Amino acid sequence: MKEKNVDEKEVEKFEAIARKWWDPKGEFKPLHDINPIRLSYICDRVDLRGKRVLDVGCGGGILSESMVSVGATVLGIDAAPGPIGVAELHTHESQVFPEYRISTIEELVNKNTELFDVITCLEMLEHVPSPESVISSCYKLLKPDGHIFFSTINRNPKSYLFAIIGAEHVLKLLPKGTHQYSKLIKPSELASWCRKYGFSVKDFTGMVFNPFFDSYKLSSDVSVNYLAHARIS
Ligand code: SAH
Repeated sequence: MKEKNVDEKEVEKFEAIARKWWDPKGEFKPLHDINPIRLSYICDRVDLRGKRVLDVGCGGGILSESMVSVGATVLGIDAAPGPIGVAELHTHESQVFPEYRISTIEELVNKNTELFDVITCLEMLEHVPSPESVISSCYKLLKPDGHIFFSTINRNPKSYLFAIIGAEHVLKLLPKGTHQYSKLIKPSELASWCRKYGFSVKDFTGMVFNPFFDSYKLSSDVSVNYLAHARIS
């Protein structure tokens, strides 16, 4: 296997604040706020009931738990032990039970023979040294008729202003340093990596924040936060 596709500095940031993961007003508030709309985006495209789902970079399990709640059986993996510990602890409180493992997708490919109906990899690609390696590894673990979902942040002056200056420095929705501009990903880059490794992107949809209502909605505007749905081509 090539060098480990983990940026230790990135993972340390999540380790340091992992215990705050389920505080709906804490550092992970934006993930709590976007979760209903990203879950409905996924559910509009695939019926999760009875589906085997892999949640890559699952963190403390906000999305993993919500997918179990609508009938999926979910394996959540994350490179950081802290968030996985928090995710496991939270199952006792929620009584919703994804299965969790400390692992990267590359490590899972090396060990795993199981294929998944659905793979989700949300808000994670912009934190790894090689997003391409994640995408090619996902291809190896998805069933031929499966669905894959990504979400990340676009890279342009507006996203710099909104997602970094606005969210981290002005509104303080996220801790400073959460996102590095150079690691943000344009939809065209994500689409070309998907094509390179055997996927075709079926849809891009934006997630737009309204600071006056402190809420997010799905939108055709993909200039800042966006979701992508892809399938094996
Ligand atoms: N997907 C979750 C959490 C996003 S935060 C959600 O949207 O709710 C990003 C997560 O990716 C963190 O938990 C971090 O530890 C994890 N991560 C970063 N690099 C990783 C890697 N190489 N492999 C797996 N997880 C990684």
